[in-house]
Amino acid sequence: MIYDGTFGGVLKLGLFMLSAVMAGRAIGQAPQPVLSLAQKERPALLETLKELTAIESGSREPEELDKIANVLAAKLRALGGKVELIEPVEANTHRLSDTPQKLGKMVRATFTGSGTKKILLLAHMDTVYPRGMLAQQPFRIDGDRVYGLAIADDRQGIAVILHSLAILRAMNYRDYGTITVFINADEEIGSPGSRNHHTRLGAEHDAVMSFEGGGNPQDDRVRLATSGHALALLTVRGRGSHAGSAPERGVNALDELAFQIGQMRDLSDPATGVKVNWTLAQAGIVSNMIPPAAQASADVRVARIADYDGIEQKLRERVKKKLLPEAQVELVFERRFPPLEPKPSSRALSAHAQSVYRELGLTLKVVDDSAGGFTDAANASLKTNAPVVEGFGLRGFGAHTTNAEYIFISSIEPRLYLTTRMIMDVSQGKAPLK
Ligand SMILES: [Zn+2]
Repeated sequence: MIYDGTFGGVLKLGLFMLSAVMAGRAIGQAPQPVLSLAQKERPALLETLKELTAIESGSREPEELDKIANVLAAKLRALGGKVELIEPVEANTHRLSDTPQKLGKMVRATFTGSGTKKILLLAHMDTVYPRGMLAQQPFRIDGDRVYGLAIADDRQGIAVILHSLAILRAMNYRDYGTITVFINADEEIGSPGSRNHHTRLGAEHDAVMSFEGGGNPQDDRVRLATSGHALALLTVRGRGSHAGSAPERGVNALDELAFQIGQMRDLSDPATGVKVNWTLAQAGIVSNMIPPAAQASADVRVARIADYDGIEQKLRERVKKKLLPEAQVELVFERRFPPLEPKPSSRALSAHAQSVYRELGLTLKVVDDSAGGFTDAANASLKTNAPVVEGFGLRGFGAHTTNAEYIFISSIEPRLYLTTRMIMDVSQGKAPLK
């Protein structure tokens, strides 16, 4: 059996099913047939994970991104969706310092039902891994864990969406107005080509569910908040000169850089959640030359969109003061992701998700601090008061690691159940959207 293969696993599964049935009866709402369909769907979901983790679609691998986009398009068509592959348009791309020339296509699938509610489901198909990493992270099942390349971030999210749609199809469920599935190919590089699509789609829907991982070995959770992420890129230009015979003719870019970092190292503010940490630096050409140039960058996090302007202004004020009058100092403040801020509608929808989870006898934690991670949910939330909740994916661990990314098999059924039921309850007006 694929579930665990150990006695403990079988026992856990048995207890899970028993508690699920009891909890369902206790509040008078039988979880069938969604739960039994979720159970039936588990092997197929694992097959999907196996297939998707074999594709090395790093954000900078256009051919592999094309390949996975076509695979996803075919799967979504087979589920009854109207599918478009959207080529990123330069005029609609927000280029960042590290944006590659060619970005991967986005996949958008539309499922039209007989109701009125519009639901947006988000995931991303790109990974942080450059080509060649697959050999170190082959797909393999070990007890309750499934390892594989980018399996937690974000193959599992795609798989949960696809197989929740399969459950709805198996029930011939069509009470929604529209379900839109949007899967981008540039999340790991700041969504330069897709961010405007996320913002527009977010504003066009009544509820946004995003499928980054739903917790870790300890916690089963969804999120109402994510961090805003920016980079402060500092470039200093000085003048090279022989370090032994004519140092006085140079302008030492490294000295200036050190001064700048020194005067900008106290900008974090625990009260607002603003964090500014200098993390990368580089200077000089050879050891016997006064360095003509130097660069550094700081990782900046904010919890509120409003804090971006304040921290950018502080940085710009500080760089005006220089150590060396002849040095040129340039600051670029690059906003990569806005924060996702908790809002009443998201709180209400996540409380409903908790009640759905309780039908299975399980506890869903709702996290509303911004610590940790930044995702497309934030872009989708920018111009809407509708609920935007992150973390509907599987529990797992090890995103962005070289050999230890995994998901838990035991989270497949609860998460398929949760997603399917949330779509149904939103469609039928049973889940709050304000
Ligand atoms: Zn991700």
